[in-house]
Amino acid sequence: MKDSCNRIIDYIRISVTDRCNLRCVYCMPEEGVIPMHHEDILTYREIVRICEAGARLGITKVKVTGGEPLVRKDIEVLIKELTGIPGILDVTMTTNGCLLKEKAASLKAAGLSSVNVSLDTLDPKRFAGITRRDSFDSVMEGINSALEAGLKVKINCAVMEELTKEEVLAFARFSMERRIPVRFIEMMPIGQGKNYKVMENDDLARILSEAFGELKESREVKGNGPAVYYTWGGGTGFVGFISAVSHKFCGACNRVRLTSDGFLKLCLDSPAGVDLKGPLREGISNDQLFDLMEQSIRNKPESHHFEEDWEEAGPNMNQIGG
Ligand code: SAM
Ligand code: SF4
Repeated sequence: MKDSCNRIIDYIRISVTDRCNLRCVYCMPEEGVIPMHHEDILTYREIVRICEAGARLGITKVKVTGGEPLVRKDIEVLIKELTGIPGILDVTMTTNGCLLKEKAASLKAAGLSSVNVSLDTLDPKRFAGITRRDSFDSVMEGINSALEAGLKVKINCAVMEELTKEEVLAFARFSMERRIPVRFIEMMPIGQGKNYKVMENDDLARILSEAFGELKESREVKGNGPAVYYTWGGGTGFVGFISAVSHKFCGACNRVRLTSDGFLKLCLDSPAGVDLKGPLREGISNDQLFDLMEQSIRNKPESHHFEEDWEEAGPNMNQIGG
């Protein structure tokens, strides 16, 4: 469907839990967050009903995220149900990768097509500093298992201002050696992310082109949204840039988000949206759910206002899903 700004909305990101087995400094406080009660989290049946209504509205792509989606019990069951919804063409996941070794094969069997693995550094010590956990090896094993299972893999690197030139180049070499696209995501001033300065993607592009020569824009890597991909040399490595802060891309926004407690969130950095859990539990019909979602999505805000809300304490990304 189109919203009132004439944007096609065909993508939903669903946070299936607020819980996580890591504590990334820009996402969650060290002590963690008080987890929601299980009964406050949407059931799989409720998520599926929302996606069925979404599919009728023209949503074709679903991203399962969190918190950490792989800590939610029997996540494969949800993936299988989502891939079975008529009109849903692609179900993917964003994960920190720690549990992928155990889960990759069953996720693939359930119909998942790809995983974005969040990995902000290739240095195990720095990884432990950023995530406050010693899980680097599990993530690397998880990436290998995902590839072996036949899942497409991309790396998401949330860029903190400490990312050095050497680390940028290490990611580029990793991309070439493993044939895995690496996406650099500018730190967004959301939740704990407000404590970190943005290192702009243009600076990373400069580091890469100084080392490898001219970067060429590439359309070979497919994704759900705003990443712009580049390659170099013989086209063996790929990097993507998601520049939500330095290059606002709201005019081409194609997505809505569903929080784990059932709020249909219309924009990453806005309170706009509608609670779906209440109406679902009060017995709303499928047609009423469709109408509620349609009215709400039609009023999606025109753009985010990262530059304005610096003083306000908003939700952390583990609640929103990235
Ligand atoms: N736990 C999973 C993971 O880490 O991939 C899924 C949820 S996590 C919130 C989704 C993505 O949001 C991750 O790639 C993470 O790096 C990113 N993220 C979290 N906080 C962010 C921030 N303030 N700015 C930019 N990206 C952020
Ligand atoms: Fe967990 Fe993902 Fe947030 Fe890191 S970014 S704390 S892995 S939810």
